[in-house]
Parts: sequence; C-alpha cells; structure tokens
Amino acid sequence: MKAHDGMYIDGQWRPAAGPDVIAVVNPADEQVIGHVPAGTADDVDAAVRAARAALPGWAATPPAERAAKIAALRDVLAARQEEIAATVAAELGAPLALAQTVHTGLPVRVAGSYADLAASYSFEERIGNSTVLLEPVGVVGAITPWNYPLHQIVAKAAPALAAGCTIVLKPAEDTPLTAQLFAEAVDEAGLPAGVFNLVTGLGPVAGQALAEHEGVDLVSFTGSTAVGRQIGATAGAAVKRVALELGGKSANVVLPSADLAKAVSVGIANVMSNSGQTCSAWTRMLVHADQYDEAVELAAAAVAKYVPGDRIGPLVNAKQRDRVRGYIEKGVAEGARIVAGGPEAPQDKGYYVQPTVFADVTPEMAIAQEEIFGPVVSLLKYEDEEDALRIANGTVYGLAGAVWAGDDAEAVAFARRMDTGQVDVNGGRFNHLAPFGGYKQSGVGRELGPHGLAEYLQTKSLQF
Ligand code: NAP
Ligand code: MG
Repeated sequence: MKAHDGMYIDGQWRPAAGPDVIAVVNPADEQVIGHVPAGTADDVDAAVRAARAALPGWAATPPAERAAKIAALRDVLAARQEEIAATVAAELGAPLALAQTVHTGLPVRVAGSYADLAASYSFEERIGNSTVLLEPVGVVGAITPWNYPLHQIVAKAAPALAAGCTIVLKPAEDTPLTAQLFAEAVDEAGLPAGVFNLVTGLGPVAGQALAEHEGVDLVSFTGSTAVGRQIGATAGAAVKRVALELGGKSANVVLPSADLAKAVSVGIANVMSNSGQTCSAWTRMLVHADQYDEAVELAAAAVAKYVPGDRIGPLVNAKQRDRVRGYIEKGVAEGARIVAGGPEAPQDKGYYVQPTVFADVTPEMAIAQEEIFGPVVSLLKYEDEEDALRIANGTVYGLAGAVWAGDDAEAVAFARRMDTGQVDVNGGRFNHLAPFGGYKQSGVGRELGPHGLAEYLQTKSLQF
C-alpha cells in the first residue's frame, strides 16, 4: 500500500521530527502493509502553527468560496473512492463491499452536505437590537478512531472547514493510510496551505500533545469513554471547547405489536455490520417475555449467515479481538447462555471473532452494561412497557437505539421516553443530516448536518 513517510503540514509533505514509525497491519491476514511516521509534540506544534497562520485568511474567506472548496474536496473523494475503499479494506479489514459503500459513500455525501450548508447557512442573525455573528471557533484539534476511518475524519473536517476553522488531525494509529489519502484529497482540491494538517502518531504522544496545545481552540474527539474523559478534563483545565463522541450500548426495543422476524433480522444486521465496531450499534435486543424464545431462535438463525472472512471481517487488531473474546467469556461466567458463536477463534489467521448471540442476559451483567465493540448481541427479556423502558435507559450510555411496533405512532411514543441521542423507528433509515451524538456518557456535542456545523462556531453580539 502507498504510504507517505512524512506529515502533511502547511500544504506540503514534510519529514517527521522524529525517527519512529508505526507499522500498519492488515487485520485479515496480519501482514504489515506499510509504515507511517509516529508524530511527536514537535510535529504537532508545527502543524498547529501552520493552522493558526492559515486561520485569519480562511475565516475571512466568503462562505460561498469555502463551499466551493469543500465541493472540490467532495469531488476528489468521489473520484478516488475505489482507491480509498481498497485502503480501508486493507487497514481495517472491512469486506470490500462494505468499504465501497458505507465507508466511502457516506463520507462523500457528508462532504457534499457541508458544501451545501456552507453556502446556505446564516452566519449572521438579527435579534432585537443585536446583530449576532456566528464566527469560527478557531483551530480545531481533531482526534479520530479507526472504526470508520474516512467518515470519522470527514464528520469533523467538513463542518470545521464550512465554519471557517482550520484543522490539525491526529487519526487512529491503526488506520493512518486512509487519513493520508484524505490529506492528498485536500491538497488536490486546492485548499489553501495550512487549512488542513495531518500528524500521524500514537494517542498518548501525538494525540495528547494536540489536546494540550495552547494553539488549539476546540478539541473534537471520537473514541473510548476513558480517553474522552481525559480529553474533557484537559480541555476543561484550559477552558477550551470540546466535543466528545464516545461509546454506546444502544437498545433495540421490540414491542409486542412489532413484526418480530423483521425487527430481529434488521437488529442482527445492525450489530454485525463492520464486525460490531460501530458506536451506535444496537447491542442490546429487548423482547417481551411471551416472544422471547422465538426471538432467540430467530437471532441465532440470522447470525449464522455472517460467516467470518466472507460477510463479516475481522476486528481491527489483536487487542480488540482479545477484548471482545474476553467479554464473551465474561458473559458465560455471568450466567448468560450462548446460542450462536462463542469465544473460540473461528480461524487461525486474522483477528476474527465468532458472531455471537447471548440469551438469558439480565440488565446488571457486564455484557448488558459495557461497550463490547464486536459482533456480540445480548437478548434481554422484559415483562411490560415500563420494564422495557427501565432496561433501555438503564446504562450510563445514550447514543442511539431502535423501536419496533405495529405502527409508527406507538413506536414514536416509546422513543420519546428513551434517554438517547438517536432512535430509528420501525427501521427508519440513517439520515446523514440528522444530529448524531450522545446523551449521558455517550458524549458532548453533535456531529452531522447543521447541528454539526454549529459545534464549530462561536457567537458575537453587536448592539445597534
Ligand atoms: P481510543 O484509544 O479512545 O482511540 C481513539 C483516538 O484517540 C485514537 O486516535 C487514539 O490514538 C487517540 N488517543 C488514545 N489515547 C489518547 C490520549 N491519551 N490523548 C489523546 N488521544 C488519544 O480507542 P481505542 O483504544 O482505539 O478503542 C478502545 C475502545 O474505544 C473500543 O473498544 C470501543 O469501545 C471504543 N471506541 C469507540 C468508538 C466510537 O466511535 N465511539 C470508536 C473506536 C473505539 P491511537 O490510535 O494511537 O490509540
Ligand atoms: Mg488506543
């Protein structure tokens, strides 16, 4: 795979400050496919300086011109979609079909939406005798995870660009090649030097240096709750803005009036997609006691279709594989019943885990409370609607969810009572313009659409 041996800073690929490199591994066969530089605080400092220097010019660029540059970036991403998909497939281990659709198609649409929003958004409003200006926050430090390598970058960079912010990105160490392709696309689209900068590296080194840098005005982080907590504390100490998109343990609530077979099969597909490495995955399925046994059978049958290596890829690395297997073992130890899958490796090579369904899961079990981030579903039984609501709302998380019922009105009435940021009603499809983000410990702030743009703006009131 093509890999740059430098950092993209101030519109150029520059040698890294230090000699260390990160080996990029294909998790499907455990082969090294390239190396990228491991950035240090010096690389981060150079990138932040470039972003600060570029800020006044980009912030003053008329929104219509910013929109045109974002549209050009969208066009480059679309033109290079095949190449990016092959890279995502190689460094994440995603099946190529998934890499060609969700992993690359969604970011192209999101980039396009911010070209449109930059052109149409009201960056100024009149309230009484005040004119309120919506101005860019400044330099954005973006720290992204590996699970949707391109989407996670675009969901931060595109709205930041639309707002008039400049950016330094520290992508996940597991998926830096996709981030390098994004930097190439920025370059090809003709964005001014310093508006977007890339520093590859390790979280506790380059990521932490970025979060702590005085020249960063807003840190936008997506990843684990543990690191999010730390970044929030760092930002709080410096009184800088922070956006956190953290984990989830979302509930898929199947009400008795629902089409059970459909709710179960869509629910299983939702968790298995991307090998369960989706923060918004519906990893808890809640079924009425009268329908529970039937749902368990349907779920076990549905999961059998996900053959590792074919329809479902590996986990991103050995650590995540071991973590997920550990949770499967824990579920057994806690008294839950495996009805499909299990902790044993499905094949010798690659970081694969068996798609697994647990029955007889009770709400206090770790497999019902903690984010597993793998192809593991827990089926919980409820007695009545109030019980279902208590279970659905009974975790520290609140990122997403689903409700199924005989009609939308019944499902919507339930969804209104859920403590969570997004709910898909009767299989309602993903909307890339709808705000995405967490209640409770699932995070702070929203991504996507106009709400995602607002994260990168600050307001100034002029009275006259
Ligand atoms: P993570 O460590 O939180 O990684 C997310 C990003 O933060 C990566 O770029 C990471 O760099 C960086 N980072 C790590 N430590 C940092 C620090 N001290 N300061 C600044 N940045 C830092 O997540 P992970 O270890 O890859 O995955 C662990 C768990 O997180 C998963 O099992 C899952 O539960 C959760 N997760 C959630 C999401 C989501 O979309 N909400 C995505 C991925 C993971 P490195 O790549 O070098 O670690
Ligand atoms: Mg990590």
